[in-house]
Amino acid sequence: MNVSDIQLVLADAGYYKGAIDGTAGPKTYSAVAAVEKLHARSYRKPPDRWSRRRRLIGAAQAVLHAGGFEPGHIDGYVGHNTSEALIAWRSKKAGVSWSVPIVPVKGARTHANQALFPRQSDMHTFYGAAGGPQCTAGEVVLPFPMLLAWNKQQVIRRFFCHEKLARPFTDIFRHAVKHYGQADIERLNLNIYGGCFNYRKKRGGDTLSTHAYGAALDLNPAKNQLRWGADRAQFAHSDYEPFWNIVMAHGGTPAGYAWGADWMHFQFARL
Ligand SMILES: [Zn+2]
Repeated sequence: MNVSDIQLVLADAGYYKGAIDGTAGPKTYSAVAAVEKLHARSYRKPPDRWSRRRRLIGAAQAVLHAGGFEPGHIDGYVGHNTSEALIAWRSKKAGVSWSVPIVPVKGARTHANQALFPRQSDMHTFYGAAGGPQCTAGEVVLPFPMLLAWNKQQVIRRFFCHEKLARPFTDIFRHAVKHYGQADIERLNLNIYGGCFNYRKKRGGDTLSTHAYGAALDLNPAKNQLRWGADRAQFAHSDYEPFWNIVMAHGGTPAGYAWGADWMHFQFARL
């Protein structure tokens, strides 16, 4: 997200009246201050001690949030939710669709254990209501530390998921580190945590995300972007085949295999 994007978002919402010039000057910062004051309650923490760059991003996030574009936490960091929220906002302004069609890959690789988990259309029967307390009641203690994708200073040693999935998530990472070793886990960026539970709609769609059940996990989103196919996505490389085989053997469904996009993502639900 560059300064021009931020100026456009702030101008569209009526906070910024200056030029869209990509340079954050006094007019941009007074718009940022106005957003911070008016939307103080939607900020996760007060932005008083944030860097100027973080404050700019935070203001754009607050405005996108108020507009219903679901940028994730208003924390001043550009993660994939914030990037997608900006794409959604831009698409709406341009009057174009931003949806990502989910078309099953013909002859996709599968594993019999995936049948242990429901189809996407039947998740509520198996998992209960999306966003309910059971969706974060499972604790996954990681066998190796991960780094938070949008703020790599932050080390992740555990995360919360649906109570039915703590076991398979944990086993996947135990097997993965056994197979690759910690050095290769890091070299392959399998230690970049992109989020599990998140009550939101599917990115690029109108239905509820499998993340809303705590039944999906994203890894290294920057190199496996939502719209990228196997030609661009890092995790489509053959180095990751053992990892995806481990995921499927524990009942998970990799998006890359199942619908050929969103290679960062796997879930405990079949199409
Ligand atoms: Zn995901």
